[in-house]
Amino acid sequence: SFLHLRPMPLDAIYSLKETFKADSNENKIILGSGVYRDDQSLPWVLPSVEKADEIVAKTQDCGRYEYLPIPGYAPFYTAARDLLFGDLGDNASRIVSLHTVAGTGANRLGAQFLKETTHPSAVWLPDPTWVNHHNIWSQVGVNVKTYPYWNSSTRALDFEKMLRVLSDEATEGDVLILHACAHNPTGVDPTKEQWMTIAAMCETKGLFPFFDCAYLGFASGDLDEDAWAVRHFMSRGTLELAVAQSFSKNMGLYGERVGALHLVTATAEIASNAKGHLSRLQRGYVSQPPTRGARIAATILRTPDLYQEWLFDIQQMSSRIRNMRRALRDRLISLGTPGSWEHIFSQIGMFSYVGLTAEQVAIIEEYSHIYMLKSGRINIAGLTTKNVENVARAIDHAVRL
Ligand code: PMP
Repeated sequence: SFLHLRPMPLDAIYSLKETFKADSNENKIILGSGVYRDDQSLPWVLPSVEKADEIVAKTQDCGRYEYLPIPGYAPFYTAARDLLFGDLGDNASRIVSLHTVAGTGANRLGAQFLKETTHPSAVWLPDPTWVNHHNIWSQVGVNVKTYPYWNSSTRALDFEKMLRVLSDEATEGDVLILHACAHNPTGVDPTKEQWMTIAAMCETKGLFPFFDCAYLGFASGDLDEDAWAVRHFMSRGTLELAVAQSFSKNMGLYGERVGALHLVTATAEIASNAKGHLSRLQRGYVSQPPTRGARIAATILRTPDLYQEWLFDIQQMSSRIRNMRRALRDRLISLGTPGSWEHIFSQIGMFSYVGLTAEQVAIIEEYSHIYMLKSGRINIAGLTTKNVENVARAIDHAVRL
């Protein structure tokens, strides 16, 4: 029977949405979940996606509702691979790619595969990280450990502590989760030198790097620059690694569930064997991934004009986010809000760890009807030219109490 079941607390982001919905104040603002909004606080269908959608609709024949092969839509996952890794030359044969149910599906498929094939004694997650990493890896049954990442007093990456803990405590074969760019939730990434040190540590300690790449284009607005860390690990030629790639944010295809898992192995033969195992797992989860979103993404990635237009769309999103970062920092400075606010501008991607305590977050919610996660993480894309003033005043009020 199910009598023993106790209520399960809602995921923090979803419960925040519920409380927001129930608030009748007309000036309420939500800075919670990681979705892009335009300056009118509305969802934005990327013009490149709109065009690709029309092309896909026109070219659909009576086979449009057929099943895809188990590894998914090949024109999509090979184009996704090339976007991420750039020019691969002979190395392409060492990579297995599968089309997955978005970034979450790629994380899950990769986790299950590693659990079954290499039996890691632990997976190391950054502290903090995307909450679903904890969920996925504990459901898969791998021991979850965390490594220091964010230093709340410097409001920056705690690189030395991160290295010390991993060098002292991680053991050979452990999986190391890394955010490829635009770390969620802190908005703080390692520098190129730091990435090189992390890669060297993976080599000497025998750790398996698993990149989560959900924000390609959101860190710098430049896809090649944002793919730098993944390409660097690949170019060393010594490491096997995995990448979970999502198109939810950079194409705004959230509900279409478009993603890919890439596994870089030592040889073409291993890659081919791994593909069989990954396909078996995928069969058990979803049989085949869904088609429509992947056709839209493939059309963009494979049509030069549309691809250029997509790059422009990404620029639009990343520059709006940057402008909002600047606006919030400037307003806090002009209000004379106690503390330093430079990090709001220097952090990257969609999120900012503003540096508020849970009490301050509660005060902001109660007095100003502005909703954010208890950690003080805000989605910068929730700010608009109209509401940024209210957000700055609310932070100012809470900080001064
Ligand atoms: N990884 C990270 C770090 C994320 O922030 C997200 C989305 N919030 C995902 C993966 C997965 O996104 P999706 O499944 O929608 O592609």
